[in-house]
Amino acid sequence: MEFKESYKYINPKSYIEKFAAADWYLLLKPELQEYFYGYIKIRENKSEEWQESRKEFVKMVCEFVEADQIAFGSSGTNWDKERKSINKIVIHHSSTDPNTSLQVINALGLIRLYAPFYSQKDNEQFGQPIWSNHIYKGKPTFIAYHYIIEQDGTVHHILLDEHIGWQSGNWEINCKSISICFLDDLDEKQPTKEAMQAAQKIIQKYHGCKLLGHKEVNELTSCPGKLFLGKDGWKNLLTTQKK
Ligand SMILES: [Zn+2]
Repeated sequence: MEFKESYKYINPKSYIEKFAAADWYLLLKPELQEYFYGYIKIRENKSEEWQESRKEFVKMVCEFVEADQIAFGSSGTNWDKERKSINKIVIHHSSTDPNTSLQVINALGLIRLYAPFYSQKDNEQFGQPIWSNHIYKGKPTFIAYHYIIEQDGTVHHILLDEHIGWQSGNWEINCKSISICFLDDLDEKQPTKEAMQAAQKIIQKYHGCKLLGHKEVNELTSCPGKLFLGKDGWKNLLTTQKK
């Protein structure tokens, strides 16, 4: 396999054999645990080298996915059979640079959500090839969101209503909700006007559903940022401009 990107901290060639194994995520457990498992706060005071290595790891996973060099299942558990009627909308931010590609969001879904689940010994799927049951543009997708909104208001409709997004850290809520993610780091700011308008349009389609921020259903995360809740929070703006 040829690599298009350059690497300083990790050697992607040394991972080729590992990614070809059905249980690659078990072989890579030390790295995945170090860089990706758990919620984001622990990463705040890591060294620059650690941050750069983590970025390179994500970049490498993207390259392996794009080249179809990661062993995935071609069938498996139909996770979506537990889908219930939708009564909630969960709002997220990607907590990344706004120019982050969907390939990176996909790689992060794969290694932060699916890999740790398939690594749990007491799960029936332990050690099995990873299978999401979700196809986007002809390829398996591990993105946990139904909609991703860019700063300029562009909407990517990733998962269908009948798909369960592995998004909130709470399976019951995942089964009943639609997820919308702003492709941005909204820790200290609110979404752009264009992104807000795009979100309002989506929310109108699901009228009657309760709107919640990710942190309102999972106390381990600060997603979608500090300015979401409260009297002047942007949560209020998402619904008030309904006609
Ligand atoms: Zn979130």
